[in-house]
Amino acid sequence: MSQCTLAAAAKINLYLRILGPRGDGYHAVAMVLQSVNLRDMIHIATQPRKEMSITCDHPQVPTDTTNLALRAAHLLAEQFPKQATGLTIHIEKYIPVAAGLAGGSSNGAALLVGLNHLWNLGLTLAELQSYAARLGSDMPFCVQGGTALGTGRGELLEPLPPLTGGVVVLAKFANLSISTPWAYRTYGEQFSHTFALASVQESDHFVQVLARHILPEIATHLHNDFEKVVLPAHPEIERLKQGLLDSGAWGSLLSGSGPTVFALYPDLTLAKQAIAQLKIDYSGVDFWVAEFCPWGIEIVT
Ligand code: ATP
Repeated sequence: MSQCTLAAAAKINLYLRILGPRGDGYHAVAMVLQSVNLRDMIHIATQPRKEMSITCDHPQVPTDTTNLALRAAHLLAEQFPKQATGLTIHIEKYIPVAAGLAGGSSNGAALLVGLNHLWNLGLTLAELQSYAARLGSDMPFCVQGGTALGTGRGELLEPLPPLTGGVVVLAKFANLSISTPWAYRTYGEQFSHTFALASVQESDHFVQVLARHILPEIATHLHNDFEKVVLPAHPEIERLKQGLLDSGAWGSLLSGSGPTVFALYPDLTLAKQAIAQLKIDYSGVDFWVAEFCPWGIEIVT
């Protein structure tokens, strides 16, 4: 029997433009994805019986075949039947669920990286990412992590220079979740007239700002099209975002389709002071402190 433990990082979007529907059920997007060191721990162990089972310490995470970690394991087992073994998978959840932080995708990415290691598959990063793309648009990014420009449906990745410094605060109403399909549908209903004008080149300016690596400047250029539908539908998220800005953040943005909002602060002291005050002003909100990180999946043991 062999085993390994992987750390799987959450992602935030520093920039997200919806360019329009593609006709295959997906939307074309241009986005900048960034890993943060808020991470789930995934424990994988091979077992003699050729069965796969999954457990998770978070009640909202499915433990059936819809779990992205299990789906990733099944996909590799189908592709590599000779190397495949039975598995037990346990997920220690720290990334909030259905929060716009790609928690499920990061868990799927962890299984791809972990089984490449445990089953000695010898797959390259590009090969792992092509399997990842079959399971979800954010998963190829979760495999590589760091900072990247994502186009296509988000799976065509161009690595960008790593971001360092600053402190990221993540804030989420504990009892709120937002469905990504709802957010795309509503955006299409209200903003389809902008699709003809949108182009992938619009992200170039943000990428140039990123390259200068001046965090306060980056923070004022953060952009997410989903804010146009999510904030009007949930004014409490808009108030929370304003509260983060008023507390000294350089900038704040909805992550993905939400409901998590993140904010960028100059240092840990300021971030902790802000959280202490915001906890008093906004009940029912959970807060996390994180930093940018240059990896998606780390093999811990
Ligand atoms: P994304 O940003 O990629 O749209 P998200 O961060 O909004 O994702 P997830 O935490 O990935 O959301 O959860 C979305 C849904 O995926 C959950 O409601 C859950 O039913 C399902 N899911 C499947 N596998 C997992 C997993 N390993 N961890 C969390 N959720 C999972």
